[in-house]
Amino acid sequence: MNQDETYDAIVVGTGISGGWAAKELTENGLKTLILERGRMVEHIKDYPTMNDDPWDFPYKGELSSDDKKKYHVQSRVNWAPKDDNKHFFVNDLEHPYVETKRFDWIRGYQVGGRSLTWGRQSYRWSDIDFEANKKENIGVDWPVRYKDIAPWYDKVEEYIGVSGQNLGLKQLPDGKYQPAMKLNCVEEAFQKATSEKFDDGRLVTIGRAAHITDPDAKFEGRNTCQNRNRCSRGCPFGGYFSSNSSTLPAAERTENMTLRPNSIVYEVIYDDATKLATGVKVIDAETHEKLEFNAKVIFLCASAMASVGILLQSKSERFPNGLGNDSDALGRGIMHHHYKLGATAKVDGYLG
Ligand code: SF4
Repeated sequence: MNQDETYDAIVVGTGISGGWAAKELTENGLKTLILERGRMVEHIKDYPTMNDDPWDFPYKGELSSDDKKKYHVQSRVNWAPKDDNKHFFVNDLEHPYVETKRFDWIRGYQVGGRSLTWGRQSYRWSDIDFEANKKENIGVDWPVRYKDIAPWYDKVEEYIGVSGQNLGLKQLPDGKYQPAMKLNCVEEAFQKATSEKFDDGRLVTIGRAAHITDPDAKFEGRNTCQNRNRCSRGCPFGGYFSSNSSTLPAAERTENMTLRPNSIVYEVIYDDATKLATGVKVIDAETHEKLEFNAKVIFLCASAMASVGILLQSKSERFPNGLGNDSDALGRGIMHHHYKLGATAKVDGYLG
């Protein structure tokens, strides 16, 4: 075991939450080590297909039969991966998992994680959501309500840029939005038909998406979305929010960040004497060397599944069942990313 480096803070993972943790910790003066299990992906430089056109892909963007084998699990979810963005998804043959029933699991092992390929839909929870557990007597009541979280929604929306329409709805609170994108002509017709057919206040509105739409807005190193619809390849304009275009460069500017790709964290070190988590154990994905890094503060931002996996593997005299797992609930109720919630339709006409 190769000892060791000490930091003020360690962040595990560089996706949306890891990038934010990196930005906040470094901007507050903490020397912070950011560990990412996958390879380096640098904004713009490492987006190989960002400017390719449909005719640049031999299968019109679909996967070849060889690639269909490599991505046979993730391809069950229709939007991912395709020929133009497959380099941002794990190879299912190299990263298999056991399914007792179908479980669609999309993973991106690289700096930026799935912030490069996410759907960018960004909604505020309302008190209907925060109170649902209590009302339906499921699990434990949230210790916070909308008013506690609202200032943080403001902060995040203003920093990442979210476009959308404020409508004063109780189920979808208003936010600090960039101008809403326009509905297309079919969507406009659907909106009109919905308001005419229903008199119960039902409405159709554009999605709230993490894209910059205000041409006068100032975002460090990012520009207005050009509506090119090539987002999951990485965007050279920084039109949508990703860790790579936004929070990680912000952390880097502080000179307090040490970013270490190819670093697989497998355990949080817990000191039974001091009763504190003191560091993490890492395998270097390239050299297979085992390493330890120490810090006073450790943030696990390795996605719902991997963060739980790391905690379960972090066994000590005090926590023989995994770190913090006195209740034995750890790993038994994981809420992972949901995919493809919605509906699509083909509509004839509207050609002119
Ligand atoms: S310009 Fe907008 S639509 Fe085009 S790739 Fe960037 S974020 Fe996506």
